[in-house]
Amino acid sequence: MIVRARVVVTMDGAPIKNGAVAVSEDRVVNVGKFPEVSARHSGEKIIDLGEQVLLPGLINAHCHLDYTCLRGKISRQKSFTDWIRAINAEKSKLSPQDYVTSINEGFAEAKQFGTTTIANLTAFPELIRHLPDTPIRTWWFAELIDVRSPERAKEFVALAIESLKSAQNYGLAPHALFTASKNLYQRCEETGNDVLLTTHLAESREEMQMFRDGSGPLCEFMNSIGRPMDDCGNQTPLELFLGAPGGRALPTCWIIAHLNELTESDFELLEKVTAKFHVVHSPRSHDYFDHSPFQSERLRRLGFNICLGTDSLASNESLSLFAEMRAFQRSDPEISPQKIFEMVTVNPASALRQQNTLGRISPGFRADLIAIPCRERGNLFGEIVAFDGEVDWIMVNGRTQSIQSTCG
Ligand SMILES: [Zn+2]
Repeated sequence: MIVRARVVVTMDGAPIKNGAVAVSEDRVVNVGKFPEVSARHSGEKIIDLGEQVLLPGLINAHCHLDYTCLRGKISRQKSFTDWIRAINAEKSKLSPQDYVTSINEGFAEAKQFGTTTIANLTAFPELIRHLPDTPIRTWWFAELIDVRSPERAKEFVALAIESLKSAQNYGLAPHALFTASKNLYQRCEETGNDVLLTTHLAESREEMQMFRDGSGPLCEFMNSIGRPMDDCGNQTPLELFLGAPGGRALPTCWIIAHLNELTESDFELLEKVTAKFHVVHSPRSHDYFDHSPFQSERLRRLGFNICLGTDSLASNESLSLFAEMRAFQRSDPEISPQKIFEMVTVNPASALRQQNTLGRISPGFRADLIAIPCRERGNLFGEIVAFDGEVDWIMVNGRTQSIQSTCG
């Protein structure tokens, strides 16, 4: 089939006015001006989207759909540690079926906002087999915590991998340095470079306080639940993760969420890191917690690939990456809208090692496409970032999808 639109934004060259995309099965086979594409593929069914801009589907690089049902349930807390207590209290009320419902509602909402690929962390990988046909492309990351039983790290990784095998795309997510042991991180890295890894690192001031100073509310809380605290009081979270001084040989598969709290010595260390990992920033969750300013430009200049994610609805109000782009734009107005759009397309595609299949509209790439209204007043990318509705039209893996409002 051929999909025509007033403008096609390919992220692979300049936007194409009166553009068209030829799709065969799950792939894009041709992109160009409508007259040329339709001449080359004559006889194909034409979907004319009219006054719309056709875009690559968006990619959410960090999310926890488990907690979609916690939207609005946790008011802003005095501290990050209080938020952890509050979410734990909410989680204790939920059953496995509640989580399945929550994840399904999250998929539906993400799709409404034009997300066609999601990196989703789940604390319940055993539920994945109840979610066989996800409506959007999903990388399932098993979130692992061994703080209460560090002797079971190896077993937790093995169990997670067993559950993840029912998913097409998967990875592992040792939760954070304060909840996952060094041994657990090592076990995850030992699964090999083919398995993507993600973790939360240097997210809050309290995490910095705990590891660098050996004090503060998070430190006290983790101590009270029996965490061994011998790694606290000496190093920043980044130093601990990288193994300072000098850093260790880091596998190339790490996608690091947050990095809000970095010292000057951390930046010196980041300069020396040869395997430049991927970084996910969640602007609205960042604002909710009032973390220190995220240093996106400094990290980008050091060679790190910056992506955007929504994080969970326990610290955000929707799963819209458009809203995430706007929140980023408010804090970093000097970054061009086109660069911001890269953070939800080509950059996360590369973090998921899909730079040759996702994030662009190009021959051979997966046919994951979305359309939004096109007014063409001024800057096209500015208009895309400013879009605040639900998408009009969506195609995932070559199939047009119906968009139903199932959440709200
Ligand atoms: Zn997270």
